[in-house]
Amino acid sequence: MSLAKSVDVERRSVDQLEPIIGAERHARLLQEADQFRQLLGTRTIWNISSTAVGGGVAEMLHVLLGYAADLDIPARWKVITGDAGFFAITKRLHNQIHGETAGGPLTKADAAHYTNMLAANAAELLDELRPGDLVLLHDPQTAGLARALVRAGTRVAWRCHIGVDWENDATRKAWGFLRPHLAAADGYVFTRRDYVPAWMPGRKVAIIPPSIDPLSPKNEPLDGVTVRGILGRIGVLDGATPDDRTSFMRSDGSVGFVTRYAEVTGEDRPGPHDQLVVQVSRWDQLKDMAGVMQGFAKHVVPGGDGYLVLAGPAVAGVTDDPEGAAVFGDCLLQWRDLPAEARARILLVTLPLDDAGENAAMVNALQRQASVIVQKSLAEGFGLTVAEGMWKGRPVVGSAVGGIVDQIADGTGILLHDPHDQKAFGVAVRGLLDDPAEAGRMGRAAQAYIREHYVGDVHLLRYADLFGSLMAKGRNRESRPVAPPAEAALAAPPAEAAAAARQAEPAPAAPPG
Ligand code: UDP
Repeated sequence: MSLAKSVDVERRSVDQLEPIIGAERHARLLQEADQFRQLLGTRTIWNISSTAVGGGVAEMLHVLLGYAADLDIPARWKVITGDAGFFAITKRLHNQIHGETAGGPLTKADAAHYTNMLAANAAELLDELRPGDLVLLHDPQTAGLARALVRAGTRVAWRCHIGVDWENDATRKAWGFLRPHLAAADGYVFTRRDYVPAWMPGRKVAIIPPSIDPLSPKNEPLDGVTVRGILGRIGVLDGATPDDRTSFMRSDGSVGFVTRYAEVTGEDRPGPHDQLVVQVSRWDQLKDMAGVMQGFAKHVVPGGDGYLVLAGPAVAGVTDDPEGAAVFGDCLLQWRDLPAEARARILLVTLPLDDAGENAAMVNALQRQASVIVQKSLAEGFGLTVAEGMWKGRPVVGSAVGGIVDQIADGTGILLHDPHDQKAFGVAVRGLLDDPAEAGRMGRAAQAYIREHYVGDVHLLRYADLFGSLMAKGRNRESRPVAPPAEAALAAPPAEAAAAARQAEPAPAAPPG
């Protein structure tokens, strides 16, 4: 059985970004890609993660690697294999990094299992990786690969997509577990500076926030008829007919149709003109779907009309998220116990994952039909759903945690200072439902903010800088045992880091060996 599986990515045309990002940004992307390709020589960039579907990391890799393919950057993606025990350990690490103390400490046996599982994956990966190749490991599931891959002569950066800006016993335990594995890595990438653990050498750290793709099925424009057609089709909106339009553009440019149904728990269905409040998330305690439901029932329903839709992936679909079914089950129990009036206005929706494009079109339609989008997470690495909602010109009510704080700038949405405060949540949501003019103003400001800061070209350029630094570091390491300039490049802001990398490596590079 093959452990480390290749993921095929559909090419995405960067030219299609031009009308969105403008000619100047587009030209800069092409020019930087040219220079980067020369710098790369015959090296390959490898991304290694734990799943190809579901969740923000997989989502983003499909997009960025699709653009990389169009730019002729040799970048590949491998997904590791783990058993249920392995994913239970990594889920615990994930929760601990978010400061969750529940679940108890990881044992020596857990550590051995984690190490062995990744050693088996590393052995397979090393059949394909060559010395000098650049590797980007994603999240705690892959951290244990670093040592073996560095030893084999690749340059390894570990990207942590999660984090909190404080420490407790749980975070210290998680980092204590991961640190021996990570020590060998050449670089570390975090979404926010505040997430970097104190022991990590700052000079090796780069900060790269995520991005969204405005052209993907998740974010592409959909007209109102199609939005309602898709939502009727999947069983969320009332009044669907078999002739409804459900088409969307797939990432490869072909036309797709939403044909599958969602599993919808709800007594009633909103009509096309009812206001919707929507949260799209994995079924994870830290997304607080249950808290959204309770806050809506207690503090939004009594004040007027509107429905709440809580949507997440089919619970059997995300294999690296063993808690999904339990969290969904808990929401279901709480939903059954709601007062009848609230229950009639709340829908729990699980979306099939069999076809990533179709799943994305469903999320797109839900976010576009929303009057208000919410993301009441208790902790959040970045919170791509916030950028997705803002891009669609919707006002977002989000907890002031993690990357949500960076995204919801003044006037572009509402930040909830205490994510547990259901009343404040309800008041914010009710206020926006009752004031469509203000909601519209916020939504427009939100879209402009996302265009400027969180579209893929910005993200790709930051990665090019990171890899440039890693390559410079590699060469310096070969010629000098201590390599301060290259390490400084890793710590520098992206543009300076790129310049430093280019200075260290002016000619097209060939991989060592
Ligand atoms: N998502 C999806 N289908 C679902 C639920 C979520 O495509 O049924 C997507 C969502 O649109 C977003 C990503 O998964 O793009 C979640 O990323 P986020 O950063 O919000 O949270 P994470 O899951 O990474 O913690």
